[in-house]
Amino acid sequence: MLQGKVIIVTGAASGIGRASAVRFAEMGAHVVAVDRAAEVEATVAAIIQAGGQAHAMQVDISEEAQVQRFVDFAVGIKGRLDGAFNNAGVDQVSSPLHELSLQEWRRVNAVNLDGTFLCIKHQVAAMLKTGGGAIVNTSSVLGQVAITLNGAYTAAKHGVVGLTRAAAMEYSRQGIRVNAILPGAIETDMFRQGMSDPAMAMQLGAIKAAHPIGRMAQPIEVAEIAAWLLSDAASYVTGAAMPVDGGYTAA
Ligand code: NAD
Repeated sequence: MLQGKVIIVTGAASGIGRASAVRFAEMGAHVVAVDRAAEVEATVAAIIQAGGQAHAMQVDISEEAQVQRFVDFAVGIKGRLDGAFNNAGVDQVSSPLHELSLQEWRRVNAVNLDGTFLCIKHQVAAMLKTGGGAIVNTSSVLGQVAITLNGAYTAAKHGVVGLTRAAAMEYSRQGIRVNAILPGAIETDMFRQGMSDPAMAMQLGAIKAAHPIGRMAQPIEVAEIAAWLLSDAASYVTGAAMPVDGGYTAA
């Protein structure tokens, strides 16, 4: 489905990003796997061992010069950028808004919103020069609804949905599709770490019960939707905010 396409995946060291990088490569993509964690090398090693094509880059998506660097690198592979899955993100330390520090607010927004903006900015610039492409951004169900104690994360993920729609409006005529995925509860390191916070752990039963499908998801279940949105099969889909949430936001 992604045969021959050059695709960037951010947050590729772990969780949804790692599963996506591996799956895209299985589908024939040449993957540029990006993460600030050194474990991104292990993702690429697994892809190459399985016969796929991938490069690892250890960068911080909240630093513009570093974003420019990995976009330029991806374009250098085949002279174009076909797709990007802007998925890197951080969780917030649970806190009611009136006790949330400005420092924590800025830390969460610097990655989840500023970082996604920087990725879109430089990827679109590259795609405009080389004939279009597809971008998928990872928001969250908290890009559509809210829970308690997650104000910074919720605001940033709502921002990702708005940014996705704005980019879709601006660039659809130039052959660039931009969509967002809104995952529910996915079994990744981020989710497990979140549950180590006693305030969040108390909500675990409620979180599971809030997903009508009756279980949490595996990262591959998000990767499959990202792959489809990045593929030509989704040629008429742009500006969409697609839940991958076991019915959470339908409930
Ligand atoms: P994860 O922690 O397993 O993976 C996130 C990856 O992003 C990590 O490898 C981390 O090193 C990387 N990263 C963080 N900040 C970065 C930065 N500044 N530059 C480069 N890389 C950076 O978490 P995950 O659950 O796979 O999360 C992936 C995305 O899915 C995130 O955007 C997250 O907000 C979103 N999400 C996750 C869930 C869930 O339940 N797990 C639900 C909704 C949305």
